[in-house]
Amino acid sequence: MSIKVLVAVKRVTDFNVKVRVKLDGTGVDIANVKMSMNPFDEIAVEEAVRLREAGVATEVIVVSAGPTQSQETLRTALAIGADRAILIESSEDLQPLAVAKLLKALIDKEQPQLIILGKQAIDDDSNQTGQMLAALANLPQATFASKVVVADGNVTVLREVDGGVETLSLTLPAVITTDLRLNEPRYVTLPNIMKAKKKPLETIKVEDLGVDVSPRLKTLRVAEPPKRSAGMKVSDVKTLVEKLKTEVKVL
Ligand code: AMP
Repeated sequence: MSIKVLVAVKRVTDFNVKVRVKLDGTGVDIANVKMSMNPFDEIAVEEAVRLREAGVATEVIVVSAGPTQSQETLRTALAIGADRAILIESSEDLQPLAVAKLLKALIDKEQPQLIILGKQAIDDDSNQTGQMLAALANLPQATFASKVVVADGNVTVLREVDGGVETLSLTLPAVITTDLRLNEPRYVTLPNIMKAKKKPLETIKVEDLGVDVSPRLKTLRVAEPPKRSAGMKVSDVKTLVEKLKTEVKVL
């Protein structure tokens, strides 16, 4: 059986960037900050490309919802090995529910059998889009996948849970979200970056999908975590125990 795979990739602040809260407390400052593909989405693309290379998948389509610059993220996904890309262009702040609705509209159009997302985007750490998408599309879901095996119209997913590994079997079509240990994404090579420039990248507008993307959540305030106060050195264990009792009150 050959299947079509849809992978959702988000452009986020690079994981190495230390973000700063804006002075007015309305959010974090991402002006002039390095942006990259969300790390869990790189794992999602890698998994889809491996399925394609193994002959299990016939086509890997990558999709991103966001500003024009998200094209760069899609080109990276194409360089990893995806076949074609779709940008759902929007300059709005797209919250997880809005993205899930957009992806649902795209599923209706493209009819993929497997939809892979990251378990969370490292900018807002929502961990919601995959779950909401599965609910909206009425599809089975397996979140935090650490192993994926597709066979005979089913997908078997292993997930690490407290104290063990859970095995789920879902009928296709299905939604999967990736955990860190699913695979190690390949390095993107220069020849593949060049090849990716020739692969198809289609841009569609939110309006074309007829989806209401207006925000449902309002951020009231964003603040830096409180600064840690300075520590102190004690001369011996006896004093340490004394301080823990009297000052920290943990004993
Ligand atoms: P979140 O629910 O925001 O933590 O995101 C979980 C996953 O949903 C991400 O790892 C992506 O696979 C997908 N996703 C979230 N936002 C977008 C977006 N704007 N465009 C494409 N995929 C997205």
